[in-house]
Amino acid sequence: MTRPTIDLRSDTVTQPCAAMRAAMVQAPVGDDVYGDDPSVNRLQALAAELFGFEAALFAPSGTQTNLIALLTHCGRGDEYIVGQQAHTYKYEGGGAAVLGSIQPQPLAHQADGSLALEDIAAAIKPDDFHFARSRLLALENTIGGRVLSADYLRAATDLAHQRGLATHLDGARICNAAVQQGISLKDAAQGFDSVSVCLSKGLGAPVGSLLCGSRSFIGQALRWRKMLGGGMRQAGILAAAGLYALEHNVQRLAEDHANALFLAQGLAAIPGLALQMPQTNIVYVDLPSQCFPALVTALHESGILAGVSAHMRLVTHKDVSRQDMAYVIEVFTAVLGQTDLLAA
Ligand SMILES: *Cc1c(COP(=O)(O)O)cnc(C)c1O
Repeated sequence: MTRPTIDLRSDTVTQPCAAMRAAMVQAPVGDDVYGDDPSVNRLQALAAELFGFEAALFAPSGTQTNLIALLTHCGRGDEYIVGQQAHTYKYEGGGAAVLGSIQPQPLAHQADGSLALEDIAAAIKPDDFHFARSRLLALENTIGGRVLSADYLRAATDLAHQRGLATHLDGARICNAAVQQGISLKDAAQGFDSVSVCLSKGLGAPVGSLLCGSRSFIGQALRWRKMLGGGMRQAGILAAAGLYALEHNVQRLAEDHANALFLAQGLAAIPGLALQMPQTNIVYVDLPSQCFPALVTALHESGILAGVSAHMRLVTHKDVSRQDMAYVIEVFTAVLGQTDLLAA
């Protein structure tokens, strides 16, 4: 019997389950560009309620909801403060600069993934025609699988608001953060003027993200979504998957976190392997380059998908099980445990 592939590259690889697919097949639909799609409208209303905002907007991707948020908050010549490793800054093709003429002001992260309050304060520019206008603070939670504390988020968003900046949260994995902390989604979004949420990661939907904000913010966001080509027609088929995800797949993220911890503990037992215990569903393993070839071969032969690198990322999700994690630990232990591959 051949073992099915264990895909730990990302939680974006999750497949829609049978019940989600059934919900998609049965979804009532309409033309969402006319605002006529009952399933999209229901998803947007549910998201607004769950995350504690007046309104929400469904879009094809998290890259697009983040870009729409930046374009809505900032104009040409405005600046947004963001982490060096933040998705909006580093992994979205520079969209804010390319399409919005928005200047990023990236800041180095602290070890916990946060941006130091002093650094944020120092980066906010005075109102002077030499400078870009500091308009927005954008944070990300979870960031590299780490959860930013509620106290930190309150202090950072208070600071931004006191200095006249708006706040945006890239909450691609905000549900992981909320579940890990045992708080409501609304509490996890507290302090932010807008939040972007991915449905297509650990929540298991095939496509889609939501942008939440005030009614007037979402009203402006609608124009940017149209301009970016994100206005979809009978999108209720996709929204139905998102509804299913928000209704059934939020609390189960705790299983992914438990599996990540189980995996990390198993790997930590390998002498010489360096890793930190994960807070959510992302495990990072630090590897010396001399073990790359043997590990690449072993993973390939074992049907385990993950990118081998010096700071290797392994992501758990609903389509990998506790037994799968035990097998991954076995494979790593066999390769890295038996030789001096990990010796410096
Ligand atoms: C995945 C992700 C996004 C958006 O990704 P899409 O693939 O465009 O949906 C944004 N921010 C973070 C932190 C992400 O992990």
